[in-house]
Amino acid sequence: MINVSFFDAKPYDKEYFDKLNENYGFNIDYFETKLNVHTAALACDSQVVCAFVNDDLSAPVIDKLKNCGVELIAMRCAGYNNVDIKFAEGKIPVVRVPAYSPYAVAEHAMALLLTLVRRTHKAFLRTRDFNFSLNGLTGFDLYGKTVGVIGTGRIGEAFIEICRGFGMKILAYDIKKTNEYAEYVELDELFKQSDIISLHCPLNAETNHIINKKSIDKMKKGVFIINTSRGALIDSEALLDGLMTEKIGGACLDVYEEEVDLFYEDNSQKIIRDDILLKLICLPTVIVTSHQGFLTREALTNIAATTLENIYEFFNSNTLTNKI
Ligand code: NAD
Repeated sequence: MINVSFFDAKPYDKEYFDKLNENYGFNIDYFETKLNVHTAALACDSQVVCAFVNDDLSAPVIDKLKNCGVELIAMRCAGYNNVDIKFAEGKIPVVRVPAYSPYAVAEHAMALLLTLVRRTHKAFLRTRDFNFSLNGLTGFDLYGKTVGVIGTGRIGEAFIEICRGFGMKILAYDIKKTNEYAEYVELDELFKQSDIISLHCPLNAETNHIINKKSIDKMKKGVFIINTSRGALIDSEALLDGLMTEKIGGACLDVYEEEVDLFYEDNSQKIIRDDILLKLICLPTVIVTSHQGFLTREALTNIAATTLENIYEFFNSNTLTNKI
């Protein structure tokens, strides 16, 4: 029997994995706790660890898993900035789900933008209270605006398709120039010309804090920034300063630099000690969701299908299609 230790498990994970696991018959132990150096021992009876975006797969954790007899780390996500891949090399293979629904994340990015621009979240609260006033709800047309897309891979491409449907002009920056509908420009030019900037690149040494005080200084006054990628692409303190001075007109955040101990949990009864997040959430020009870009039926089905197939492949063939 192949045992899988599944960390940071939520009811929706269990629903989709249990359904598709009927075809495989793995023994999956679902742990609500995140994976870290203190919880790694839970995986000691397992050949496989299944982890997600906010699990800790740093060197000491991988070391513990290796010593416990874990043979495979199966990430059930696309990004792997939380995995020390260099350290894992030659010790434990790491697989991931490179694509499960770029549309889920791209559509969420546009949903956040439309909500913030048209003040839909405010209007919803008002009309529930029979307040039908429109004061303060003025938005702007997306038609004709310039959107700067940083990272034009699967999700960036899907987002560009959506923006084209809105009649927007599309600028892009990527180390690879693959999109035929975007005009690729240098980063500074993108910062200078864009009315809206959307981040769709991975988090790595080059992209860490790609949005910082210097880059914000180069942007148009009133620029909207969308981040559905990884929190640390943005220096949150610089973002907050930009919002406070109204240099930045709006921030749509599905991810946050310090989200690890907060997102995916109900913290409504706790005192949040992160001053930057507290201030960001209080601003009328900010909308925050809890890293939910991936959360569609289609994406959850594909995540479970690819993860289970990755595990099956590891034990039954010599190839590992989705090895990082
Ligand atoms: P992808 O690999 O298809 O595309 C990433 C693109 O970024 C590529 O075109 C690559 O060339 C480009 N890139 C790499 N380094 C760059 C750099 N230094 N500067 C500019 N561009 C660079 O990945 P994807 O599937 O489109 O996913 C993008 C990111 O979205 C993931 O890395 C992940 O962080 C994030 N994501 C978020 C959610 C969510 O729920 N919010 C879900 C899935 C993925």
